[in-house]
Amino acid sequence: MIAEIIAVGSELLTPHRQDTNSLFLTVGLNDFGVEVGFKTIVGDNPRHLVEAIHNALRRADILIFSGGLGPTEDDLTRECVAEALDLDLLTDAATVLALQARFKARRMEMPPNNLKQAQVLEGAELLPNPNGSAPGQWLETFIRTADAHTHRRLIILLPGPPKELKALFTDEVRPRLAEVLPPRFLARRVLRMALIPESTVDARTSPIYSRFTDVDTTILAGHGEIQLHFLCAKDTQEEAEDRVDQVVELIEQEMGDDIFSSDGESLEEIVLLMLGLRDLNLAVAESCTGGLLAERLTAIPNASRNFLGGAIVYSNDLKVSFCKVPAKLIQQKGAVSPEVARALAEGIRDRTKVSLGLSITGIAGPTLPDGPDSNKPIGLVYIGLADEEDTQVKQFMIPGDRDRVRLWATQHALEMLRRSLQ
Ligand code: ATP
Ligand code: MG
Repeated sequence: MIAEIIAVGSELLTPHRQDTNSLFLTVGLNDFGVEVGFKTIVGDNPRHLVEAIHNALRRADILIFSGGLGPTEDDLTRECVAEALDLDLLTDAATVLALQARFKARRMEMPPNNLKQAQVLEGAELLPNPNGSAPGQWLETFIRTADAHTHRRLIILLPGPPKELKALFTDEVRPRLAEVLPPRFLARRVLRMALIPESTVDARTSPIYSRFTDVDTTILAGHGEIQLHFLCAKDTQEEAEDRVDQVVELIEQEMGDDIFSSDGESLEEIVLLMLGLRDLNLAVAESCTGGLLAERLTAIPNASRNFLGGAIVYSNDLKVSFCKVPAKLIQQKGAVSPEVARALAEGIRDRTKVSLGLSITGIAGPTLPDGPDSNKPIGLVYIGLADEEDTQVKQFMIPGDRDRVRLWATQHALEMLRRSLQ
């Protein structure tokens, strides 16, 4: 069963407005095991809209329209659907009365244009819209294709304003879909990995997930993280869960420690959880990330149980005074050096009396610093992690602009800490 979402409105073809309704509708359809096969965005042009409807009727079982149900000349969805399906538009008396009452309540004269909104496709059911003037419509119909076959089609018309569309979908469309679609139960899982190339993850996992043709797998990559999303629809919840568990288990075997979470937790949540389990506490010393690492950790509720805080030691002077880094070391090696990363991690650990000190020092760009770091490349980052026994320091080269270098530096720091706690 395939759906096509048709978002109608010329404003959606400009750089100023984005179609977000289809994202909401996709979640709702997926809940019924219905896949969105196509999304179309079409302007308020009757010729284009009719053409889009013909295309959709050919290739999708369910057509959901968003927008173009208003009272103005350029609201054309009803008319174009009627034309494409060769159906009449009938005036619904109850809707006319409701529209008149709506205007009366606002002490306004109803413009004749609004009568358009009382027009209903022959055979369709009206979906009441308490948040706006245009009701939605639900139509189950049959079409005949060029090969003389008859196909069942479900046509759903919804208003464009997101608040109205969401309420109508939830209150009116969902219960009807539940009645007409075979019962489906969904299981979802997300596996998350940090700092591994997407192609590597795919090369290692696709031989596994491609064998599970009944599990829908999506790889999402961004911000130094790879997510593997699994979705399976079955006749019972147990069946769906079982299938997802099977594929997840095999992928966990393949990727091992590279997976930091299999229940949706973020990297910072996992790190805090592991610190908690081991009864360890943490403080950070951040140079080029300016507090971003602390911000990510403190965004998690109850972070204070294991995260004490730290220092933003952006200037060399503060590196010396807050983290006791020898001034001479900075002069000799530069602030962005393995030696200074080590001294920062050990210094913050010592100053705050925590079990673990984590430091970040790097060159975020776009300009190079003066002094001993001036001939080092932009994107060079050192991360230090000091514990009771020793201190490890790692070097990273992070390509990209300032924002990217800073974000990825915190990602590397969290991942280095996570791996040390494994
Ligand atoms: P109205 O009676 O308000 O005119 P309508 O059904 O004709 O309702 P549109 O005119 O197409 O809907 O859209 C109304 C507003 O809803 C748009 O200005 C836009 O802000 C928002 N909107 C429309 N379509 C979408 C969409 N696909 N995603 C997000 N917002 C949308
Ligand atoms: Mg409109």
